[in-house]
Amino acid sequence: MQQYMGNHPEQNPLACRWALNVCVRGGPVGTGASLGDDMQNPPLFHVLLDHLEATDTRPMDVQRFVDRWHRLKTHEAFPCPVCFLAGKERSLAALPAQGDVEPMKCPSCKTQFNVSIDE
Ligand SMILES: [Zn+2]
Repeated sequence: MQQYMGNHPEQNPLACRWALNVCVRGGPVGTGASLGDDMQNPPLFHVLLDHLEATDTRPMDVQRFVDRWHRLKTHEAFPCPVCFLAGKERSLAALPAQGDVEPMKCPSCKTQFNVSIDE
């Protein structure tokens, strides 16, 4: 179990449970049904969280990004997590798909996220 306790989970229990779920599983989960209808682009979200986890991002920072993601509007561009946690809002740009991978790249910090396309 990851240690997410003690960070005031009551502020946003849903988002907390979400982050916990992703981190405990440690990878993409292939089920979209239980993620909630208000969640934008769950496959990309998984990849971004994996990146944050892989780069030893503090749980409270991961939580900040999770909260940001939950506030995304349908028409909004997807924010780069690296830039977001650095205090900047930068939008990820979609690159041409390569096979079953759809890369998203941040034009600001050049971080690239490879999102698998399952369906
Ligand atoms: Zn960035």
